[in-house]
Amino acid sequence: MDSYEIVILGAGISGLSTAAFLEAQGKNVLILEKRDKVGGVLSSKEIDGYTFDFAANSTVEKYESFQKLLNWTGIKDQLMQANRKASKKYLYRDNQIHALDGPLSYIFTKLLSFKTKLRVLKEPFVKARRDHTDESMHDFVIRRFGKEFLDYTLNPLVAGVYAGDPKDLSMQAAYPEMAAMETQHGSVIMGSYHTMKNKRNAYKQGAFKPSRNIMSFQRGMNQLPKAIAKKLSPQLFLKSEVIEITPSENRYHITYLKDGEKHTIATDKIISTLPAYKLSSLVSDLDHKLSEELDKIFYPPVGTLTLGYHKEQIGRQLDSFGFLVPEKAKLKFLGALWSSTIFDHRAPKDHASFTLYLGGSRNHEEMLQSDLNRWVSEATREFAEIMEIEGEPKTKCFKLYEKAIPQYNLGYMDFKAQLDNFHTHHPNFIISGNFVGGNSVSDCINNAEKNANKMI
Ligand SMILES: Cc1cc2nc3c(=O)[nH]c(=O)nc-3n(C[C@H](O)[C@H](O)[C@H](O)COP(=O)(O)OP(=O)(O)OC[C@H]3O[C@@H](n4cnc5c(N)ncnc54)[C@H](O)[C@@H]3O)c2cc1C
Repeated sequence: MDSYEIVILGAGISGLSTAAFLEAQGKNVLILEKRDKVGGVLSSKEIDGYTFDFAANSTVEKYESFQKLLNWTGIKDQLMQANRKASKKYLYRDNQIHALDGPLSYIFTKLLSFKTKLRVLKEPFVKARRDHTDESMHDFVIRRFGKEFLDYTLNPLVAGVYAGDPKDLSMQAAYPEMAAMETQHGSVIMGSYHTMKNKRNAYKQGAFKPSRNIMSFQRGMNQLPKAIAKKLSPQLFLKSEVIEITPSENRYHITYLKDGEKHTIATDKIISTLPAYKLSSLVSDLDHKLSEELDKIFYPPVGTLTLGYHKEQIGRQLDSFGFLVPEKAKLKFLGALWSSTIFDHRAPKDHASFTLYLGGSRNHEEMLQSDLNRWVSEATREFAEIMEIEGEPKTKCFKLYEKAIPQYNLGYMDFKAQLDNFHTHHPNFIISGNFVGGNSVSDCINNAEKNANKMI
């Protein structure tokens, strides 16, 4: 039986960047990937001269690990920074889009009533909750900022991050920093002030200061996993589906299926980056309770609709990242990125491209039960009306992710407790991926570095 020191399960951005950080420290690993290509959900395509991304369109540089990975991979020259215009974001309400450009814009925006603006300013005086049990984002925001703020700012914003529903999302799991601000400082506004002050002091003392720039690559986000895979010297087995993991003395045996044949290997250490619903059955003999908790993590379907138009067709000025839609508006899409405004060279000369997200926790059932083609057409029509677009798109493509983004919903903390217990009993088997410690590409890379360090 072949034997390896470390085996990584899955060659999405989590698995590949973990392998990269390990190789940078001189470790050799084996990666097992079910599909015939790397990148997991990341998918970039060139269609009719446009470059479209179907999962992540960009990521925000929040951690030092991102730059470390780029340095190691050697594709810094392919990195693209978003245009300045992309810092401006719009939220939709009452057939209009309202600009949000920094905290002061909340005071002047017509998005919120005067009463809600006053309510927001009074947030530091709202009594902090003493009960520290898990709370939904919906209840937290209503308590601290009021219903209108929830409906027209937080509701669309979480659709943009998680394709999630505030009624289901756990405040402690999805937004732990914000939940901690109330516990530690009695208020989100006061907590933000203290956090900013502490960070400023830390930066003065030499701590890494994230640029928070919005980043992508010249040929789309999938260029990063492809470049990592090319640079990695460790073995990467594609078309190799892990079907069984068994403990054996102080090691593990992993069985995978390749070209219809079963192979079993032995390893000292495993880092799994498989989606929770895939890993669940693989760990049921090791920890039945964890397997049940993994099964409960909900991944709603999300459809990505990419559109390209000639600029002459578009009445609205293209001056922003795009806009997000609140549930109350009852539109057929969650939000729209103005892709070619964010990054140069995403569309042919004099053309513009857009990426719309459909479904998510908000209305995936309605979307899937209806005629999908009709749903997509209605989303296109609604979008065209808001953007004052005339005529049909020059290019249009739709991709459905049946299980798209893991939700950090109420009950997540039970999963987390069980996961911590698993790691205590299996220190050489790390469970990671986008359902642990954040789902953005930056979070995945940062967690990859932490996990690699634990295995050295
Ligand atoms: C529609 C959408 C929009 C998004 N937008 C953004 C964004 O704008 N910015 C941002 O930062 N993030 C965004 N994200 C999130 C981000 O793209 C993902 O969280 C991240 O790419 C997940 O990477 P991963 O490696 O953890 O998981 P995955 O990409 O899911 O990789 C897991 C890998 O495991 C493999 N696998 C599964 N089962 C097995 C098995 N049994 N054996 C072997 N291999 C197996 C899979 O084939 C896959 O390659 C978006 C995601 C989606 C879906």
